[in-house]
Formats: sequence, C-alpha cells, structure tokens
Amino acid sequence: MIRLRSCSSSLLNFPFHFRTHQIQSPQCIYKLFTQKAFHNAHSNPQTPLSALISAISSCPSVSYCRAIHACVIKSYSYSDGFIGDQLVSCYAKMGSAEDALNLFDEMPKRDLVSWNSLISGFSPRGYVEKCLNALFRMRFEVGIEPNEVTLISVVSACASRGAVDEGMHIHGLALKLGLLWEPKLVNSLINLYGKSGYLDAVCRLIETMPMQNVVSWNLMIAIHAQNGSAAEGLNCFNLMRRAGVYPADGTVVSLLQVCENLELGKLAEGVHGVIIKCGLSANVRVATGVLDLYAKLGRLDYSLEVFKELINPDKVAWTAMLAGYATHGYGQEAVEIFENMVRKGVQPDHVTFTHLLSACSHSGLVKEGRNYFNIMSEVYGVEPRLDHYSCMVDLLGRSGLLNDAYELIKQMPMEPNSGVWGAIFGACRMYGNIELGKEVAERLFALEPSDSRNYIMLSNMYSAAGLWRDASQVRAVMKEKGLARTPGCSFIEYRNEIHRFVVGDQSHPESVRIYAKLEEVIGKIRKAGFVSQTEFILHDVEEAVKEDMISEHSEKLAIAFGLLVINAGMPIIITKNLRICGDCHGAAKFISLIEKRTIIIRDSKRFHHFTNGVCTCGDYW
Ligand code: ZN
Ligand code: ZN
Repeated sequence: MIRLRSCSSSLLNFPFHFRTHQIQSPQCIYKLFTQKAFHNAHSNPQTPLSALISAISSCPSVSYCRAIHACVIKSYSYSDGFIGDQLVSCYAKMGSAEDALNLFDEMPKRDLVSWNSLISGFSPRGYVEKCLNALFRMRFEVGIEPNEVTLISVVSACASRGAVDEGMHIHGLALKLGLLWEPKLVNSLINLYGKSGYLDAVCRLIETMPMQNVVSWNLMIAIHAQNGSAAEGLNCFNLMRRAGVYPADGTVVSLLQVCENLELGKLAEGVHGVIIKCGLSANVRVATGVLDLYAKLGRLDYSLEVFKELINPDKVAWTAMLAGYATHGYGQEAVEIFENMVRKGVQPDHVTFTHLLSACSHSGLVKEGRNYFNIMSEVYGVEPRLDHYSCMVDLLGRSGLLNDAYELIKQMPMEPNSGVWGAIFGACRMYGNIELGKEVAERLFALEPSDSRNYIMLSNMYSAAGLWRDASQVRAVMKEKGLARTPGCSFIEYRNEIHRFVVGDQSHPESVRIYAKLEEVIGKIRKAGFVSQTEFILHDVEEAVKEDMISEHSEKLAIAFGLLVINAGMPIIITKNLRICGDCHGAAKFISLIEKRTIIIRDSKRFHHFTNGVCTCGDYW
C-alpha cells in the first residue's frame, strides 16, 4: 500500500508531466487530475501521490471530494493508507461528517494517524460532540490512546464553541496521560479558558507549566487585556520578565492594549522603554502600536517621534499617524501625511480615507474634504462607505452648509445609519436649526430608541432656543422610557493612578484644595472676560443656580487638580466620558491663556488641545 513516506520521487511525478506548483486553482487540479486519472486508470493504476494530495488539500467542496474519492477507488486501494486518512479529514473539513465516518468505517486498518485525521477534520467546524465521540471510540472500542495532536484538535473545537466543561474533561485526560507538558496543548487550553473568561484557570495552568514559553505568556497577557483586567495583564508581563522570557512582538502588542485600557501614559512610556531595550522598536507592527497608543493617550508629539524613526512605514503606520493628527484636530498636517504617503507609493484604503475626511471635517477643510471625497473612488479605487458619508455630512454640517449635507444624505446609495444622522444632528444643534433638528431626531429615535444622548441633545437644543416647554416634553419622554442621562466623568493621571471626578464631586482627598484652586482660577478668567455659557445646562433654573452647577463640572475639577499637581511645562491631560460642554470648553481656553498651560482634553468625540486661549477644534466639536 502506498504511503507518502515510502514513495520514491520518481513515483511522485510519474506519469504526469505537471507539477503541483504549476497548477493554480483547485478546479484546475481537479480537472487535470480526474481526466488523467481516468485515462490512465488501466495502463497506470497508480496515480501520482503528489497530484492526489494536491487535489485533496485544495478540495473546494464535498462534490469535488466525492469525485476525487471516485478516482482514488479507480486507481488505488485507499483503504488503509495515507490517502484514506487524507480523504476522511477532507470530508470532515467540508462539513460532511457522514461521508467522513462512512469512509472511515470502511477502512480496515485505522491507526492513531487515521483517528487524528478524523478528529482534526471535525475540529475546525466546531463539531465538539463528534470529536468527543471519535475520541471515546478510539479509546474504548479499539484501545488506542490519544496523543497531544488529538487533544489539541478536541480542545480547539471546544474553544470555538465555548464548551468549557468538555474542555475541562480533556484537560483531565491530558493530565492523566501525562501530556500536559506539551506547550501547544497547554496553549490551546489557555486559549479555551481565556476565551471563556476562566482567568484563574489560565493562571494556574501557566504556573504549573514546567516550560513557560513566550507563546503562553503572550496568550495570557492578551487574554487579560481582552477581558479588561489590565492590571493582571501587566502583572503577567512582569512575571514573564522575571522568568527570563523575552517578549515577542505579539506580547508587546497585547501590552499596549493593556496600557490603552488603563489609560496610563507613564506606563506606556515604560513599555516603550522595554520595547527599545528588547530591540523591537524597528518592528513596524510594534512601532505602529506605540504611536497609536501615544496618540490615544494625548501625546501626539511622542507619536510623531516614533513615526519619524520608522524607516519603511507601511499603510497601517501611515494611517495610524494620519488618524492621530485627525483626532487631535491637526487637519493640515493630516492632509500632508496623506500626500506624503501617496507620493511614497503607499496605497491608501478605506480606513485611511475615513481618517482623512474626518481630519478635514474637524479642521473645517471643506474644499480639501470635498475634493478627496470626489476622487477617492476614481483615483484610488476606494468606494465611499457609510463612514465616509458620515464624515462628509459632518464636514458640510460643521461649516454651516446644512442643506448641502442634507442633499448628500438623500443621494446616498445606501441607507444612512445613525452615524450619518448623528453628524447632521450635531450641526443642527450648532446652528440652532430646530426644524431640521426635529426631523433628524425622529430618525435617530427610530434607529437608536434607547440611546439617551439623542434625547438630551434635542432637549438641549430646545433649551438653548428658550423653548422650555418642548425641552421638558422631551425629558418627559426620556423618563417614560426609563432612559437615564449618563453622568459626566473626567479622569486625570497622576503618579500612576487615575483620579476620577464627577460633577460637584467632593470625594477626592484633596477636595478642599481643588475647590479653592477652582474658585481662584474662575475668578481670574472672569476678570479676563470669561462669561459662563449657561445655555448648556439642561434645566430651566435661575441664572445664578445654573452658574453654580456649571462651575463644578467634572472637567473643571480635573483641570483644577491638574493645575495643583502637574508640573508647569507638562500638559494637563484629561479624559471625559461624554462630549465636553461649551462652558468648560470656553473656560479651558481662558485657563490655558491665563495660567500659561497646555490643557489636552479627550472627550467622546475627539481631542481638544488648549494653548494660549485657543483650541485645535476651532470651537466646533
Ligand atoms: Zn462643563
Ligand atoms: Zn476644542
């Protein structure tokens, strides 16, 4: 019987005059294979194995698999050899468990490799039960014990279906058979437990492993990052370093995710240091992760440094830098990056265009934005998608071209989503266009019935126009639907810790000093001409009361704390969970001027850089 291992090279090529690498598609293989195999069936009963294996491994469907099977029967006795195993696995992978099992049961000799072929065929389809059934049969019907290859297949199937109990059973079996030292098997178990949120089990597995390799550490850090337990992820990284394992690029990318989740800038700098030390800073994937992280944490200046050091930035790196400029409100710089990228022969994709159009929008570059939108499909072959339309609607709306924006929505070839309607809604609020705003709000309510932000925005629009009755009606609807307003929250990093503030917050240990500082600063900026913008308050309360509430907004408390603790010369970086309110925005501008400080606020939409009394958003956000 023919097994690949025992074939001589002449047999592999005999009697056909084509080699597998010359054949492009599975259809092509199949055609050549079947014609020649049938043709030669009488004179040369042995079809070359290379052709058979190619045909099987690139088999596109069950019907092809059956045809190949027929050829095999004509030219071979498939029954106990390598080809039989291959066919079984092929049937299983194509999803035809019945064919796979039928053929398998016909095979007179079935060894461990055969059973593994069957199980590994079921595994990618997530057929947990079939895998377990086969495992049971091999152990108890024929008395063959599985090896690590068998168990890895079963565990992968369990992982893809979240079948933790079944996976635990395999874990136990691996322990019993003494296979738990196999790193790949342990990693597949880590993957299973991690995906299902069993972090304790993951940690115990790692700890008991005699040989901890970089892959398991990677997995563990990534799992913690994905499950939002960033601190544990960081802990793993430290343990890994202590165990003398050097991080690979995958570890570092997971770790950057941890930093992003923790929003700790100092930590990011630490990780960046490790990256440089481990010689990973020239790796484009890693460097792109670092520059992206710095941009997200407000340090666009660091991002640029990392970008400049890249010798051959790829599309993802260029796009990440462009995105950084876009979210920070540096439209002109974003356009320059784009032009440089194209000049260097790097092809932009739809993500690049989303950031480019968003940059134009955030910086009021109407002419440029329109131009890029018009040529993106023709010149760069990127068809406008929903995101691109929503950027364009935002761009036109921001510039007060509400009619143009509305026309564009009507011309869209696809159904506009909440992003598109949300963009024009923002413009309606900005320009006080109540009539259109009402119409758009209805669309948004239909698309996102439980998103309280749309109701709040409409209510604010009415309040700003002095239409108190309409405003309170909207609030009544909100109440009826049980929609709560998300409380505003601001965060600032100091000494590796995140300090959190809500409106009127007095829970901070330094609360007394913070309020004193805030009062002092507000006094100073009032003298310099700052006037509270009370229209941004939802309720129709007395002016003085409004001012009180507004002056204790979380952003202002965070700024006051920043002024107290962050060294002069360093920017005060704050994150806000919602959009920054107009009053805090105005106050931040004045504070940046009077206190000679750079204040960077990341709100739910973008970054605001306040320096010398102006913001990079140009007062539109
Ligand atoms: Zn505010
Ligand atoms: Zn701004």
